[in-house]
Amino acid sequence: MSGPRTISVLGATGSIGASTLDLVRRNRDAWDVVALTANCQAKELAALAREFGAAVAVVADESCLGDLREALAGSGIEAAGGAGALVEAASRGADVTVAAIVGCAGLAPTMAAIEQGRTVALANKEALVSAGEVMTAAVARSGATLLPVDSEHNAIFQCLVGNAIEDVRWITLTASGGPFRDWSLERLHGATPAEAVKHPNWSMGAKISVDSATMMNKGLEFIEAFHLFPVGVERLRIIVHPQSIVHSMVEYRDGSTLAQLGPSDMRVPIASALAWPRRMDTPCAPLDLAAIGELTFRAPDEVRFPATRLAREAAVAGGAAAAVLNAANEVAVAAFLDRQIAFTRIVQCAEDVLSRGLPPAPASLDEVVAIDREARIRARETMEPVR
Ligand code: NAD
Ligand code: MG
Repeated sequence: MSGPRTISVLGATGSIGASTLDLVRRNRDAWDVVALTANCQAKELAALAREFGAAVAVVADESCLGDLREALAGSGIEAAGGAGALVEAASRGADVTVAAIVGCAGLAPTMAAIEQGRTVALANKEALVSAGEVMTAAVARSGATLLPVDSEHNAIFQCLVGNAIEDVRWITLTASGGPFRDWSLERLHGATPAEAVKHPNWSMGAKISVDSATMMNKGLEFIEAFHLFPVGVERLRIIVHPQSIVHSMVEYRDGSTLAQLGPSDMRVPIASALAWPRRMDTPCAPLDLAAIGELTFRAPDEVRFPATRLAREAAVAGGAAAAVLNAANEVAVAAFLDRQIAFTRIVQCAEDVLSRGLPPAPASLDEVVAIDREARIRARETMEPVR
């Protein structure tokens, strides 16, 4: 038996962070915790850092560092704050870094972890969507192992093991359809933040819950799949599967379709990434297909939910398109959660910003960050009330 592996969790206080640390807690001897990070939840982060004996705890928002220091006083745990500290913590070379920050805010630390050439378990899809080839090139250069945690991509990754990518006919991403799957366009217009974050199958952070309601989550996942699995956009499809049991599928040229099934519990794909290429125990209930009874599938409706079309177009356009789409969506989702815009404006805002033309393709992390920043400004402009 080898000794414990080291692990860092970027976004430790979030939904994915909590699921990850739940698995670590159940296998305490298998892991040494290096860095835990949060945006600003100093008390919560300090409690986790103490529980897991982390080497360092970092708040991205420097104004919370005082609270973090106070909460960690006497523990011997290093406290740090700000964007630079976040990148420094991500660079400490843990065997596994779980990238679980929400949004493009996670890009720089995720890239820093990739540069270390170890294993990065990626939940932070916005980082890959924005950076695209800039990230995949960094993975190739550093020799890092990028393991997808997003349940669909983790499923596809598992279905590809032992097969050649050239033999793939289709990769099919499943989508629950979100809480508004059966709502009319009129009703969608008046959807409230409280309704949007109430996902029928999954318990997740607010941003991804809204993305799931607009189907932009599936759009971002389409672009994520485009970068992770090089089969080309024409071999990537989306199908609505309300039960969220089949997490995605790969069909091969001989007519065989491989699927990965499991409960709607993110601890399953997280465990798959943490233990890869082995398996580990999870406390998740075994799959009881007889109790579930029915697995159903239907085509997505891109009239009510145009986000997947927009994302496909961005993947085809390449260059800066996906970073612009993602940035505009992040701003619009925040505005919707803040009750500034209607639900149906979220995706329209992203489309408006994309239609204003694109900057040149980014060639570096700094260029991706600049494109993201500029697209956010444009997105805010599209949302200013018309006088
Ligand atoms: P969450 O909102 O619950 O947690 C986000 C974490 O990131 C928190 O620790 C928060 O403190 C930190 N954070 C937020 N803003 C930050 C900033 N500006 N700088 C640094 N840190 C910041 O989100 P989540 O649901 O855990 O999702 C995390 C990521 O995983 C997202 O990219 C999401 O799309 C992806 N994901 C989540 C799920 C899920 O079931 N929750 C499933 C698949 C993929
Ligand atoms: Mg997913």
